[in-house]
Amino acid sequence: MQIDLDPEGRRVVIFGDVSGARQALRRFISSEAAVTLATPGPLPKPTDRVSPVRYAVQPDPTDTAGLLRLVGPAWLIVDVELTEPLRHRIRDLAAHLHVSMIKERPAPSGGQVILVGGGPGRTELLTLQACEALRRADVVLYDRLAPTEDLAELAPGVELINVGKSPYHHPIPQRSIEQLMIDRAKHGDSVVRLKGGDPFVFGRGGEEAQACIAAGIPVHVVPGVSSSVAVPAAASIPVTHRGVSKSFTVISGHTPPEPRELEGLVRLGGTIVILMGISNLTQIVAGLCRAGLDAATPAAVIERGFSDAQRSVMRPVGRLPAEVRRLDIRSPAVVVIGDVVSVSPQFAHSAEVIDAFGHPSLWPWARAS
Ligand code: SAH
Repeated sequence: MQIDLDPEGRRVVIFGDVSGARQALRRFISSEAAVTLATPGPLPKPTDRVSPVRYAVQPDPTDTAGLLRLVGPAWLIVDVELTEPLRHRIRDLAAHLHVSMIKERPAPSGGQVILVGGGPGRTELLTLQACEALRRADVVLYDRLAPTEDLAELAPGVELINVGKSPYHHPIPQRSIEQLMIDRAKHGDSVVRLKGGDPFVFGRGGEEAQACIAAGIPVHVVPGVSSSVAVPAAASIPVTHRGVSKSFTVISGHTPPEPRELEGLVRLGGTIVILMGISNLTQIVAGLCRAGLDAATPAAVIERGFSDAQRSVMRPVGRLPAEVRRLDIRSPAVVVIGDVVSVSPQFAHSAEVIDAFGHPSLWPWARAS
């Protein structure tokens, strides 16, 4: 069971050392609790102290007066690191005084990088593991297409850095992002690199993992819901469907594929999903049709999937590029080409209209019935 309580203005006593308790400390400071850190070791130097935290040395389990001074006025005790005898003693006192006590895992010691897939931009599509990584980060470097709306709540007190755009609206070069990740991890931080979709689907996650490994930094990956599958689903298009399509290929339209590649795709006969394909769509569709694709094949483009501004349009593929221009459809958008598009309940209604979702349902099938 999970109960959310607001610690603002309440006295919270955290038991742990400065490093292990750093994340709990930040979280409670950001929620404006009155925080005391009771450390097992010597108190940090005045210059290393965080304001407005009070510091105390953990008393001995036999020092009842000292323990009462900490536990008595507390609203909440946070046990990050306690020896067993001290834990027992504090638990007894807290129970007696009706003070709540929770357990928190210590912050990781030693720097690390976690490449986290954020899904297609909507908080609800983050995985539980992604949420946990965000909560337990020291710094989050996030991208433009990642879910950013609720980031401050998902990562309370955590430093958030937008690496999708610099203050002058130029993207930060990939090598500089990698260097920043590595520098922060070497400094001992737990670095979350939050990306849109899945980190390994056109997300440069592989390069970033390699850069970390080369620098001797431990790196972990949290997979994400990829837009290549999820955004078609937001328009009720299944990328495979029994008796209609038994494969799907995800391609990047960032640079138009070679004629040879397009021929291969057409020969395969499955669903084609194009990411980053809007600016080169005319060229890609012309290439596919030259390679033998029937211009009447159903196709769709879904713009800003899962946002309140989601738009989708379905047309025969030969007419899709002109429609995309006419409707001024822009990136981010996913293009789907194949008979699976006609499986969508929207398909029948889409001859001349754009389906403006307004508030996209996570269950568009139910909506359509
Ligand atoms: N790693 C990401 C893809 C990165 S490439 C993933 O797995 O989803 C960026 C492209 O993804 C965009 O140009 C667009 O084609 C697609 N995309 C990502 N999020 C999207 C969204 N919410 N709506 C539509 N397209 C999206």
